[in-house]
Amino acid sequence: MPHTEEVQLPPNQGWDERILICRNGELVQTFIVVTQRFVVLVDTLINPATAHQMVEYARPWLDGGRSLLVINTHADYDHAWGNQLFAEPNAHFPAPVIGSRRCAERLLEGDEAPFLAEMQAAEPEIFGEVRLTPPTVHFEGQMTIDGGDLTLHLLPTPGHTDDHISIYIPEISTLLAGDAAELPYPAARAIDGLPQMRASLQTLAALDAKTVLYCHAPVEAGPQLLHDNIVYFDALERACRAFLRANPSAALAEGADLITLTGCRYEDVTPPTDLWRNVDLHYRTVAHAAQLQMMLKWLAWR
Ligand SMILES: [Zn+2]
Repeated sequence: MPHTEEVQLPPNQGWDERILICRNGELVQTFIVVTQRFVVLVDTLINPATAHQMVEYARPWLDGGRSLLVINTHADYDHAWGNQLFAEPNAHFPAPVIGSRRCAERLLEGDEAPFLAEMQAAEPEIFGEVRLTPPTVHFEGQMTIDGGDLTLHLLPTPGHTDDHISIYIPEISTLLAGDAAELPYPAARAIDGLPQMRASLQTLAALDAKTVLYCHAPVEAGPQLLHDNIVYFDALERACRAFLRANPSAALAEGADLITLTGCRYEDVTPPTDLWRNVDLHYRTVAHAAQLQMMLKWLAWR
């Protein structure tokens, strides 16, 4: 999918007016949270230009003594590649960039550098200017930002990636899940991330937030998506356990058709609604098979 620098501000559909959603094409949505003390950008999109567009949307609220704060949910490119606008020397909009210690490590230690080089070669007009810029304020575990009227609780929700955090705002029972939950499902990058990701889904569901907003799901997905993600992985585990019981010595060849082998089709383990049926074919086939493979590996290796 080619990237775009367009960032749209969809109209409020019932969530608290102090939260703005910034949508970068079909790729990702990030958030602006306007509190009495701070205007908080949650993630910085894909490059300085898209981060700049977020600042433009935030600008009307940067008055009355409010200062700009930036949070990274995690270090992935669609969430943290606009950081330099705030945190490099001579930054256009100097502001603290807050992220987990692991998030800072990922951006400092060069883990992301090969991917950046790849993206710069593929789409120089979008990624040519990007310089990996880690958060400047790191924390371990939880962190609380007291915005006056709204409190932002930054909660570790590892799994999709090991540096991931989500944000809960109790005054308005609102959760910004980040990529800890997605439509149709989040994906763990490493096998030991799978159980962590499922534990994080339980943590988030237990908050029982009335409004849940995601970086990769439409607003109408709502809190139910957390439960649907939990049900999806539980169903995958059941199907994979049954398969391993019936085929104890199964050696899974690379390229094996795991959907047929396990009999676990996307349609069998997701809700029968348009929201789920209309996701890109990739999620119903290749990516679903990759989830099965991850689950089988986890069950076999632990
Ligand atoms: Zn993402």
